[in-house]
Amino acid sequence: MKNIKAVLFDLDDTLFPFLKIEKPIKNVKLTIQKIKKSGYKVGVVSNCDSHEASEKINVLGINNFVDIVITPKTPYEKKPMRKMFFRAIKKLNVKPCQVLFVGDKLIEDIWSAKLFGMKTILIEKKLRIYHKMIFKFKSILGPDFVVNDLSKVLNILKVRQ
Ligand SMILES: [Mg+2]
Repeated sequence: MKNIKAVLFDLDDTLFPFLKIEKPIKNVKLTIQKIKKSGYKVGVVSNCDSHEASEKINVLGINNFVDIVITPKTPYEKKPMRKMFFRAIKKLNVKPCQVLFVGDKLIEDIWSAKLFGMKTILIEKKLRIYHKMIFKFKSILGPDFVVNDLSKVLNILKVRQ
């Protein structure tokens, strides 16, 4: 993908199943590893607290492929607020337009990242009712891409699989 230097991921339900009873999300480690190895900066921007986020990243086994983990310092920093996005681009030394944001929630992840100037991918598992509604406004605030499997992010980035 042109001009993209960094890929930021939401954590819950994008990389890690939010409910423990759910099955693990497929292809997480492989996808993150390939993105990192093809030269992109990689980050996680999560509404989890920092302890919980690092524990989940540990379980996923992706520590070595993630450059930054951004979590809220106060509840007011949680997505869809943009404070964490500012911290992420500053730490990675990139502009918003050089970032691809991957998430599962339209408001917290996609709208907020898009309004911040990032490119966005929505991970679509079940088409939720409010998603259907919002797709009507796709051109303005909808995701740039919709995928149903994390590994499809590689196709969009044109990373060799
Ligand atoms: Mg999520």
